[in-house]
Amino acid sequence: MSDSVKYNLPESRIATSWYNIVADMPVPPAPVLHPGTGQPIGPDDLAPLFPMALIGQEVSTERDIEIPEPVRDIYRMWRPSPLYRARRLEAALDTPAKIYYKYEGVSPAGSHKPNTAVAQAFYNREEGITKLSTETGAGQWGSSLAFAGALFGLEVSVFMVKVSYQQKPYRRAMMEAYGASCVASPSALTEAGRAMLAQDPDTTGSLGMAISEAVEVAATNDDTKYALGSVLNHVLLHQTVIGTEAMEQMEMAGDYPDVVIGCAGGGSNFAGLAFPFIGAKFRGGPSPRFIAVEPAACPTMTRGTFAYDFGDTGHLTPLVKMHTLGSTFVPPGFHAGGLRYHGMAPLVSHLYDLGEIEARAVHQNPCFEAGLQFARSEGIIPAPEATHAEEEGTSRVILFNLSGHGNFDMAAYDEYLSGNLEDKDYDAEALDAALAGLPQVAAE
Ligand SMILES: *Cc1c(COP(=O)(O)O)cnc(C)c1O
Repeated sequence: MSDSVKYNLPESRIATSWYNIVADMPVPPAPVLHPGTGQPIGPDDLAPLFPMALIGQEVSTERDIEIPEPVRDIYRMWRPSPLYRARRLEAALDTPAKIYYKYEGVSPAGSHKPNTAVAQAFYNREEGITKLSTETGAGQWGSSLAFAGALFGLEVSVFMVKVSYQQKPYRRAMMEAYGASCVASPSALTEAGRAMLAQDPDTTGSLGMAISEAVEVAATNDDTKYALGSVLNHVLLHQTVIGTEAMEQMEMAGDYPDVVIGCAGGGSNFAGLAFPFIGAKFRGGPSPRFIAVEPAACPTMTRGTFAYDFGDTGHLTPLVKMHTLGSTFVPPGFHAGGLRYHGMAPLVSHLYDLGEIEARAVHQNPCFEAGLQFARSEGIIPAPEATHAEEEGTSRVILFNLSGHGNFDMAAYDEYLSGNLEDKDYDAEALDAALAGLPQVAAE
């Protein structure tokens, strides 16, 4: 047993394959449906949006999927990421628990998102694509794809949720520094955006709206494909490098977690850390608790319905079965912008439905309080999203994912420090209306 605070793996231990949890699931997840026919979609339905390699991964049931060498080569810039034992936080909390965290803020973009951005840019370039369109909430995904696009020579255009575009000018500047273009969404550049603006010119925007705009651009331009930063199976797959490394680092530390925690927006960083541990459990290994923590203002799992829904507000995407607040639901403008999505990854939703994982919803003030306590003991200022994943508990060994740093979120911390941060609540009537409007699906 070691008493280190930091567990580093050598570069040679970067995973050679991503872990596909579908291979080990006791019950297979529900198929993706065509909104017109209500029938399962085939690869051709997705071809306008994604390269074939990613479509293949989306529906794969193979357990291990090889990471291409050029992707591993870029991973080497910051991977393996460190695993820390939070000894100073343990002391500050006066807890007998051992708290470990995997830190994904060491990537160039400052979060876990480049793990999939690099892979997606690679497969698109392999298939001759020159442009990517995408949406971003707080800007972490947009800046991650901009970074990956720059490395692979792809043009990236980003639709950024309007409230975040206004709150986080430095994330926009970062995307532009990497050579991407970024506009506030909804915008007048797309039919979907113009329709949303006509309906409500003052809308704060939402990820659902920005996705419609980005999908429209990809669907109507042959040289452009669409990239999504969370939710989809292939995105969660790419993030499993986090958990694969963490398993090895926990072994170095001589511990195994009793509880594995991650914040959950679309579910990708939680899945990235948890899926390799859940897979080990499915294959007869130890059985920790798995907890996904979501914002109380956008409580997809704890308040949403498990049903088929569109991934976007403009209803351009196929139907996926997930925990959802309804595709027309617009969450209030709280600070953890990366968690403001109406749905939850179908694979995370499925595991939640099977009772394999737990979900919790927390308000933003306690999160910022935890974030400051973490900063003052561990030195890293967590992204507002990541503060959701911190928890003190009575478990013996806690492992959580510190999905990113908060160095671009100081305006939000400033608001908290000056006592002006409100705990926003969602509009319950609007939520009921959005849920009442869920699409009717015959084949369930
Ligand atoms: C985007 C983001 C999240 C939320 O997205 P998931 O797909 O749920 O991981 C959480 N933390 C950070 C730092 C992010 O950038």
